Amino acid sequence: QKKIGVLAVQGAFAEHIRVLQKLDVHCIEIRKKADLESSSLNGLVLPGGESTVMGKLLRELELFDPIKKQIDDGLPVLGTCAGLILLAEEIAEYDTVHLGNMHIMARRNAYGRQSGSFQTEQKFAQCGKIPMVFIRAPYIESVDTHVEILAKVNHHIVAARQENIVVTSFHPELTDDLTVHKYFLNIVHQK
Ligand code: GLN
Repeated sequence: QKKIGVLAVQGAFAEHIRVLQKLDVHCIEIRKKADLESSSLNGLVLPGGESTVMGKLLRELELFDPIKKQIDDGLPVLGTCAGLILLAEEIAEYDTVHLGNMHIMARRNAYGRQSGSFQTEQKFAQCGKIPMVFIRAPYIESVDTHVEILAKVNHHIVAARQENIVVTSFHPELTDDLTVHKYFLNIVHQK
């Protein structure tokens, strides 16, 4: 059974765990450095929430460096919404960068702060249409040439992959559709 860590310091981690348990993986809540060290993970999920708060907690809890390094070393990671922002090498109109492993530019609150929540259906990778829930979501403004675009909504990139890193600006953990998590677990199983 594969071991998937879910960053559990803030945000929608419980929902990811609920989905992953349906897919028969062993979930480990990552709240402190020891949680990372005590288990050799096969994958990691960075959930949605508030990227500023999560970025701050990552640093305070000394999770920042080990997580950044493990991702650079090839650990499969799924970042959703705020998780996408944490992974972006650049954040439009912000000087802050968090983990920054992925060669994309993210735009925070790209659909507006208040009324920026909506649901739609669109194609994801080769998997056909899936439901997509957006909550004060970012989108991806630009990607490097080696980044694969997995989904677009209204011409904006909302999901992408760079080798071991998969990001979505929507919340796949808030619907019953398992496509995105299955796609991620495929990468985990190929490692
Ligand atoms: N707007 C949030 C941020 O910038 C992300 C929202 C979410 O994760 N649902 O961190």
